[in-house]
Amino acid sequence: MDQVLLVTGASRGIGAATALLAAEKGYAVAVNYATNRHAADEVVASIRAIGGRAIAMQGDVAHEDQVMALFEHVDRELGPLTALVNNAGVVDMKSRVDEMSHERLRRMFDINVIGSIICAREAVRRMSTLHGGRGGAIVNVSSAASRLGAPGQYVDYAAAKGAIDAFTVGLAKEVAAEGIRVNAVRPGLIETDIHASGGIPDRVAQLAHQVPMQRGGTALEVAQAIVWLLSPDASYTTMSLVDVSGGR
Ligand code: NAP
Repeated sequence: MDQVLLVTGASRGIGAATALLAAEKGYAVAVNYATNRHAADEVVASIRAIGGRAIAMQGDVAHEDQVMALFEHVDRELGPLTALVNNAGVVDMKSRVDEMSHERLRRMFDINVIGSIICAREAVRRMSTLHGGRGGAIVNVSSAASRLGAPGQYVDYAAAKGAIDAFTVGLAKEVAAEGIRVNAVRPGLIETDIHASGGIPDRVAQLAHQVPMQRGGTALEVAQAIVWLLSPDASYTTMSLVDVSGGR
């Protein structure tokens, strides 16, 4: 039977690289995006060009109704879900905690934390053997920031990713006997658009000297860890937080 994967935030960066690599390994892939339809369509076109199966699906993970519609779309178009990558995530402008607005904190936690938990809920409802599913795998995309704290930059983001680490541990234990493995990757400094969205387009170059390996990573290097965690090669791996951070 088909392996069916939903990658949230798959129009660009780590999500796009994960969608492409998973499609190469034979997954049918739902390529979720928030606003950038054109970029998502390009990911789908690249997958179809190698003979893979993919569909672009809009849905803002911060809105429960859109998440529900997204999962129903996957059910209808690709069949029973077997894997979820909770990748959609945002940073914000550099700020100290004593300058942060409530509005900023709501956005940070609505997208990065509640969005991931709601998506995992929908995946468990479909994949758990308790609910008649055939099992599956979830990978949450956390960040090395959960260990480092991101002081002076975005402590709120680091705190949101800390919540994702704890969520990964708890959910992994909760559904381990129901055929679902749950793991996280914690990327370090990765070359994607996210840094420009936080107002520091050259952030990777600025901080590369702090990385023991002396360079930023690529989206593909993160995708390789994610796709391994999804795969049967990781069949005894659950509740792991895998650092993909060049030693940082
Ligand atoms: P990116 O290049 O900025 O791409 C973000 C992706 O998420 C886009 O596909 C975007 O869709 C989507 N997205 C944003 N908000 C969304 C929402 N509310 N609902 C659905 N999709 C949404 O980011 P990235 O660097 O690849 O980051 C991916 C993940 O890795 C994030 O969770 C991030 O925190 C984590 N991470 C990144 C780094 C790094 O250095 N890059 C390091 C550690 C962790 P649109 O194209 O439609 O806007």
